[in-house]
Amino acid sequence: MTVIRDKPQPRAAIASRHRAEIDVAAEALVRALASKDLSEFYRVFRTTSLPFVGGEYVDDAGSLFAACFEIVHRLGSISPAVGLAVENHFYVTSAMATFPTNGNAQLDRRRRELLTQIFSGRRLVANTNSKVHTASLGQIGTSAKREGDGYRINGTASYTSLATEADLLVLLTELEGEGTALFSITPMQGNPAVEIGPYLFPNAMIDSDTRQITFHDLVLDADALIADAENELTILLLPFEMAWHQLLIAALYLGAAAGAIDDARAFLTSTRGRDGRPLAELDGMITSLGQLALQYSSARCVVEKVGDALADIEQLPKDAPLVDRAVNLASVAKYTGTSAAEAIVTTARRIVGARAFSGDWALERLSQEVMFASLGPEVTAVIERRYGKLILQAESVSDLPQ
Ligand SMILES: Cc1cc2nc3c(=O)[nH]c(=O)nc-3n(C[C@H](O)[C@H](O)[C@H](O)COP(=O)(O)OP(=O)(O)OC[C@H]3O[C@@H](n4cnc5c(N)ncnc54)[C@H](O)[C@@H]3O)c2cc1C
Repeated sequence: MTVIRDKPQPRAAIASRHRAEIDVAAEALVRALASKDLSEFYRVFRTTSLPFVGGEYVDDAGSLFAACFEIVHRLGSISPAVGLAVENHFYVTSAMATFPTNGNAQLDRRRRELLTQIFSGRRLVANTNSKVHTASLGQIGTSAKREGDGYRINGTASYTSLATEADLLVLLTELEGEGTALFSITPMQGNPAVEIGPYLFPNAMIDSDTRQITFHDLVLDADALIADAENELTILLLPFEMAWHQLLIAALYLGAAAGAIDDARAFLTSTRGRDGRPLAELDGMITSLGQLALQYSSARCVVEKVGDALADIEQLPKDAPLVDRAVNLASVAKYTGTSAAEAIVTTARRIVGARAFSGDWALERLSQEVMFASLGPEVTAVIERRYGKLILQAESVSDLPQ
């Protein structure tokens, strides 16, 4: 007997109660966008178990990835900008929930305390890598200094999504004279030393709530330090986080592609040509939609398959080469998933035509926001350069990460 599924299934099945909650969150998002008030979406989202799903799958990257994939994919099919805001929460908390710290007692204790603070405290998490837009690429706008047992933070960071909703901020900065360090900052809202500034993108992507953030002599306790350069695992935590980020970004923009395909399907099945025949019966339309479905399915297969690379990392530093492999494969998935998403939304918009902008179609929002897919976290040029170097150093293509 042939089993026909109406939509592709994730590799690891996600709990049916999570599926039901994803429906609830998605409906709340649709209502919130219609009323131009996202606070109602966040109120509902916080009442579900979805933002805290990492607490159910600590040290189980396979199951957690499947759940996060479905959540950000669904929200991204409605609003890539809101999908991106919550994706930032999911990638940081998921990386923390699944980073194997069993070989390092100090980091393990700190990680578990942070997980309890986030999941039991039901906190939403924002993050900033402290990048600033200056005349030179890659500049860091913040810094930390040791002061007594604690730390003092100053400076400005360009990017923080989910900025006015999050309860806790994870800050990546330079600890003076020591190197990279990761801090957790709470409270984030109403903290006089944390100025949540204007929108970084005042028009495009506004619903991602991406804002500039400035620290004015923020004093932190010793406990605020999650990891520093002295800890041998810190050097692996950051790329591990990046692998999670690249994969979930691809998942959310593939959600945008899925939303666009749904709109194209709805148009073709509900509209007749001048000859009176449904457009969906035209051979050219059937093949066009088939091409979109193939692009979507093949990119989704890549992203889901690469999710397994996260679960392959079981013990560190022993599995350090597997972190490197996950980072490389995640950039493949990000590259493939986001390029497919942009191309699919463009083709779907051409199928539906100008009515896509007449108000009733998801395609309008998807068209305006999907272009951010290739712009971060790793920009396309960075991924292409990495793979260019890898292939030039390799003896053959079989040496590329598999
Ligand atoms: C909507 C959105 C939300 C974001 N939210 C957050 C957040 O919450 N927290 C956070 O920390 N960050 C966030 N970011 C930042 C993100 O993680 C990346 O740091 C950012 O997208 C990188 O883009 P950039 O334009 O700043 O890159 P830049 O490094 O300034 O690069 C600009 C351009 O220079 C060229 N270029 C750069 N590097 C190379 C290279 N190696 N080789 C060749 N050309 C190169 C490329 O053409 C590139 O597009 C967000 C970004 C976006 C777009």
